[in-house]
Amino acid sequence: MSDSKYWNKTVETMPRKQLRELQYKKLKSQVRHCYDNSPFYQRKFKAAGITPASIKSLDDLSKIPFTVKTDLRDNYPTGLVAVDSAEVVEIHASSGTTGNPIIGAYTKSDMEAWQEIMARSIYTAGGRREDVIHIAYGYGLFTGGLGFHYGAQKVGAEIVPASSGMTQRQIKLMKDLGVTILCCTPSFAVYLAETMNTIGVNPRKDLKLRLGLFGAEPWSERTRQRVNEALGIDAFDVYGLTELCGPGVSMECPEHNGMHIWEDHFIVETIDPETGEVLPEGEEGELVFTPLSKMGMPILRYRTRDISVIETDMCPCMRTHSRMMRVSGRSDDMLIIRGVNVFPSQIEYVIMGFPELATQYEIHVDRPDALDTFAVKVELNEEYSKSSCVNLNDLKRRILSKINNITGLNPEIHILKYGELARTEGKAKHVFDNRKGKT
Ligand SMILES: [Zn+2]
Repeated sequence: MSDSKYWNKTVETMPRKQLRELQYKKLKSQVRHCYDNSPFYQRKFKAAGITPASIKSLDDLSKIPFTVKTDLRDNYPTGLVAVDSAEVVEIHASSGTTGNPIIGAYTKSDMEAWQEIMARSIYTAGGRREDVIHIAYGYGLFTGGLGFHYGAQKVGAEIVPASSGMTQRQIKLMKDLGVTILCCTPSFAVYLAETMNTIGVNPRKDLKLRLGLFGAEPWSERTRQRVNEALGIDAFDVYGLTELCGPGVSMECPEHNGMHIWEDHFIVETIDPETGEVLPEGEEGELVFTPLSKMGMPILRYRTRDISVIETDMCPCMRTHSRMMRVSGRSDDMLIIRGVNVFPSQIEYVIMGFPELATQYEIHVDRPDALDTFAVKVELNEEYSKSSCVNLNDLKRRILSKINNITGLNPEIHILKYGELARTEGKAKHVFDNRKGKT
């Protein structure tokens, strides 16, 4: 085992003043790159009446207009590419189910930067070359599988590129190959734990698992506790977006007090999602990222729709890079039910607090007439499903009261037997919004 807890100590513990100077230097060259090579940004700059000379400090970043998801969709596939096509060495794309996908085009230097921050992220969680890393994120256009793959390769670990699907075979491989680190979506980790339980594999005895690196979906602190307990691991949250590079934008350290944003590669701002106004440090708002090392498809001030809080006080791990708190919700995922804002993660938080319940759940919203209907389907866990002494009415009442406390709404609660809700081997589908127009 290496004795250092840092992948790159100089960068990770760089004094904030120096880090900001580095960001300014990289921002200036990034703005120049956009202005010289991207017709999309030339138009944006012109409309806003700015040139690269307008950016005289980091604060001037706010003069640059935002870039939003529809800009990427409207310029599909390569309208935002700012290099000669021969410079592009790899393409990834988001898993969007409707319309044009979001494309990411990478140059050689983009790939090196991504691999570097993924290696740093895995190392920060405690991954070392002695580890056997099982990657159950989908491989292919999705950035999850290959992103972790490139990072783990740079760390020098042994990689099991399992991708998604064939859950029982994955468990067999994890057991037989002595897998120590599991990388996947949190919902797949939950599903793996349930399946192990069903087929009689005891993760603490039969596996050597010690860490989990889970991302690509918002998940709650209580899901972490349940997965840690079920698999006997220390689970870490990791964050990223295809638009920014993929996973590796930010990563939790062993303090588990937010994810360090790798600020030598990204500038983060928090804005009011309604007005677009930049908020003071420490206030909750929508995160806006400006990647600083992206050459193939540079992006300035990308609105993520993710709601979080940024902390810049010193972390006990001594890394100086600011931390983003767990994403409380993606504003795209937010449901407006009878005029009330509801994040699916709030419902998940309530469900995970009931030991009687399994981790699977569904939220159903519909509008048969003028009013929204709202129902939550949950399952008893395996043990309670077999028992006849559960007071279902009392359990229903307690779940309802907790959801009502958080949202003020009174959904119908349906308690099903274990296994009655559909399972998924990739990203989980929890929300079924059947309303027309979906206000
Ligand atoms: Zn830390």
